[in-house]
Amino acid sequence: MTNITVVQNSNASLPDVPFKARHLINGNWANSSDGAVFERRSPSHGIIVSKACRGTAEDVDAAVASARAAFDDGNWSMSSGKDRATLLLKVADLIDRERERIALLEVLESGKPISQARAEIEGASDLWRYAASLARTMYGESHNTLGKDMLGVVLKEPIGVVSIITPWNFPFLIVSQKLPFALATGCTCVIKPSEMTPSTTVILGELLMEAGCPAGVVNIVLGFGDPVGTAMSTDPRVDMVTFTGSTRVGKSIVAATSGTLKKVSLELGGKNPQVIMPDADLDSAADAVALGVYFNAGECCNSSSRILVHEEVAEDFIARTTELSRRVPFGDPMDLDTKVGAIISAEHQDKIHAYVQDAAQSGASIRLGGQALEIDGLNGQFYSPTIVADVAPNMPIAREEVFGPVLSVLTFKTLEEAISIVNDADYGLSAGIWSENVHTCLEFARRARAGTVWTNTWMDGFPEMPFGGMKESGQGRELGRYGLEEFLETKTVTMRIGATRGAWVG
Ligand code: NAD
Repeated sequence: MTNITVVQNSNASLPDVPFKARHLINGNWANSSDGAVFERRSPSHGIIVSKACRGTAEDVDAAVASARAAFDDGNWSMSSGKDRATLLLKVADLIDRERERIALLEVLESGKPISQARAEIEGASDLWRYAASLARTMYGESHNTLGKDMLGVVLKEPIGVVSIITPWNFPFLIVSQKLPFALATGCTCVIKPSEMTPSTTVILGELLMEAGCPAGVVNIVLGFGDPVGTAMSTDPRVDMVTFTGSTRVGKSIVAATSGTLKKVSLELGGKNPQVIMPDADLDSAADAVALGVYFNAGECCNSSSRILVHEEVAEDFIARTTELSRRVPFGDPMDLDTKVGAIISAEHQDKIHAYVQDAAQSGASIRLGGQALEIDGLNGQFYSPTIVADVAPNMPIAREEVFGPVLSVLTFKTLEEAISIVNDADYGLSAGIWSENVHTCLEFARRARAGTVWTNTWMDGFPEMPFGGMKESGQGRELGRYGLEEFLETKTVTMRIGATRGAWVG
């Protein structure tokens, strides 16, 4: 592969023995009921990173029973916001203390670069601190306008037992977008991390125990979607499922929960466009496009895997983006200079490559990359930075989640046409526009059907700002006050005060 930036094996020291991951059930570390385990091999280095217990339906049964009992006894669910915030703040400090240990396992299980893993762990502890602030400041409503003898109070209560099911692409960050918010409200939880990345959630469990989290409030069951995830979605003692992952599995969870009508909150896939207007700051936009498509090797729900460029500036913009793409360091995730690491699995790499080949066969032109990348001295799978131009809006590469470092370039003539292409999609997670005209940006922001719109920036996120998708990108929101609200039930209390109630029968 010529003219791209590759980081070879850094020979960083790796752990000698695999991390041993067990279930956390009712405050105890437990093996699976049948003793089964599974291994996770590093997608970049090929070593066995972890050996984890492979959960069964019986393990889920025990974990849910423990979460249910811990919720129903009221010691946690009716504890003060102050006490819950104190626990969350302790966990945040412990996450900071263990940052290097967590980051190393995250790198080796997911293939992401070490600098990015460290930043994610820092972002995660910030989420625990933000959720602590919400634990002390949430409140309901009072109604003093119902007449002389009546007072109405709207209580906000924790929804109950929550199943938390997470994916492999940001394992520690995503569990931290859910768990501290659920705990802030007084919920109790059963968590299942992805089978690709079980270890860092187990470390989080250790930190929760060290911080004094009561037994049963947080339970962890490791393993696969079937049977662990399905049992967590169907158990009648679970009140809510919060899931981040693919739209395909999200739909199956909705179907699985329908028998018990649980609340379901879903953060799913995206096919997120950035629109480049001719008056945009093209250098800044090209840099954001590079970030948008290569961050986390494109294995990112917010990946801006398609861009729509005004035809007047299309060739100029593709040239700038190609030049930047050649400079992004791809390779050994243990090297501090690396910005893009390994692809999560060989099967996933094949899927990425199939999208690129299909587009080429349908008339699109590959302007950069389009092939696997060999990294000397490493035993894993890597994919080259790839730019595919002349993409038509109906091609699978323009409509489906590729989840790799692959950019699709489409062109348009008018803002109207761009908005119509943006909205002609099954997904609606995020969208962006680049223009120096504030009216153009505002019109786009109001008309794009996406849960997040960025103008003249991409991928900035804050704990205070809600995140989630429209259409097949999900339902419900995480982060901000809206994220907390997901874990709350609303109860109406209507009270008569003073005078005797007028009789109905007489
Ligand atoms: P996935 O859907 O394959 O798996 C996610 C989790 O669901 C894993 O823990 C898996 O074991 C579990 N699971 C699988 N089958 C299940 C079933 N039948 N019942 C219950 N649980 C089951 O997703 P993935 O490949 O791990 O992650 C990539 C996907 O996640 C992408 O589509 C990406 O867009 C999406 N994602 C979305 C967001 C967001 O915030 N919108 C964030 C990150 C990732």
